[in-house]
Amino acid sequence: MDLDEWPYPKQPLVPLAETVHERMSVEIFRGCTRGCRFCQAGMITRPVRERSITGIGDMVEQGLKTTGFEEVGLLSLSSADHSEIGDIAKGLADRYEDDKIGLSLPSTRVDAFNIDLANELTRNGRRSGLTFAPEGGSERIRKVINKMVSEDDLIRTVATAYGNGWRQVKLYFMCGLPTETDDDVLQIADMATKVIAKGREVSKSNDIRCTVSIGGFVPKPHTPFQWAPQLSAEETDARLEKLRNKIRGDKKYGRSIGFRYHDGKPGIVEGLLSRGDRRIGAVIRAVYDDGGRFDGWREHFSYDRWMRCAEKALAPFGVDVDWYTTRERTYEEVLPWDHLDSGLDKDWLWEDWQDALDETEVEDCRWTPCFDCGVCPQMDTEIQIGPTGKKLLPLTVKNAAPAPSGHAH
Ligand code: SF4
Repeated sequence: MDLDEWPYPKQPLVPLAETVHERMSVEIFRGCTRGCRFCQAGMITRPVRERSITGIGDMVEQGLKTTGFEEVGLLSLSSADHSEIGDIAKGLADRYEDDKIGLSLPSTRVDAFNIDLANELTRNGRRSGLTFAPEGGSERIRKVINKMVSEDDLIRTVATAYGNGWRQVKLYFMCGLPTETDDDVLQIADMATKVIAKGREVSKSNDIRCTVSIGGFVPKPHTPFQWAPQLSAEETDARLEKLRNKIRGDKKYGRSIGFRYHDGKPGIVEGLLSRGDRRIGAVIRAVYDDGGRFDGWREHFSYDRWMRCAEKALAPFGVDVDWYTTRERTYEEVLPWDHLDSGLDKDWLWEDWQDALDETEVEDCRWTPCFDCGVCPQMDTEIQIGPTGKKLLPLTVKNAAPAPSGHAH
C-alpha cells in the first residue's frame, strides 16, 4: 500500500514540557469515506488509504525505541474502521504486555466499537472513559448529516461497555446543524437518559455516568454544508439552555448526566473566518490593531471587539457578519474557495447538500460501488484497504539500546 512508503515521523520529537497528549502517534490510515456531511477533514482527504498492519508495527517499534513514550495513539479520522484494527490492537498489546505500553484510539464510531477491541486497547493501560460521537440527537438529524448510527446501535454499544466494567461514557454532539429544530436537540437528553437507564440495568449499579459534550456547528468549505446557513449565537444559546433545563429537570437521571457546552459567540467568529473571503483580512487586521491576541483562550476572547471591528472593516464593501455566517448560499454563487481543488466535484457536493435536505443517506464507497465524488480520477488515486491477512509477530530483540541519536528532543 502506498502509505507504507511514507513511514514517518521516524524519530518523533519528544517535548521537554509535559503535554496533554503525551504519547507517540501513528497515522494508521488516511482519508475517510463515511461521508459525514459536516466533516471537512473527511471530505478533503478522500479516499481511504490504509497503512498495513506490518507497516504500523514497524513504526510503533521504531518510535517507541527512539522516544521512550509509554503510550501509542493509533490515529486517523475513524481508527476503528481500519480493516485489521482488531489484529493491530491485539498484536501490539501482546508485544508490549511486559512493558505496559498503553494503546489509545480517538473517539470511536458507535457501530465500529466492539468489546474485544476495547479490551485489547485497555489491556496494558488504564480503563478510562469511552467516547462516542453520535453528533445528532434525533434519528432525523443524523440522516441529514449522514451519520448512519441508530439509537439502537448506541444503546447496544453502551450496554456492552457498561456490562464489561466501564463506568463512564462520553457522547459528542453538535448544535445548530442544518434544518435542526429545538426538538432535535432536546432528544439528546432522551438519549442520555436511555444510556444511563441501560447502564444502571446492565451494571446493576447507580454509580455510572454519561457526559454530553456539545459544540456549535460551523459550516466548512469543501463540504456539502458549505452552502448552509449557520445558526446565530442567540439561537444556539437558547437551544442549549432548553436542553440544559431538560437534563437538570430530570430527577431520576439528571444527576448522572454531565453537560458541557460552549456558548454560541466564538462559533460566529469561527464561522466568519471559516467561510470568509479576502475582505476578512481587513477584519483580522483591525482586531489585531485593537489589541486582539490569543483569541482561542477564553479569557482573551472578546466577541464585542470582533463584531465592532468587523462592522467597521466590512461596511465599505456593503456586507456584514450575518452575510458571511447566517446566510444560505445559492447554487449560482461563486464561493471564495472554488479555485482550491481538493478533487471533489462541486456538483456532487451540491447533490449531497440536496440529499441532506431530503434526509437521504449515502453509503460509504469503501463497501459499495463508487458514487463519483470525483476525487479518485481527479487526484489519480484509489481506495487502498486490507485486510492483508498478516499478523504482528513478537519482537525478537526487546528493550534494545536506543538508536545512537537517542531522544529526539
Ligand atoms: S471517486 Fe468514488 S471511490 Fe473515490 S472517493 Fe469518490 S466515491 Fe469513493
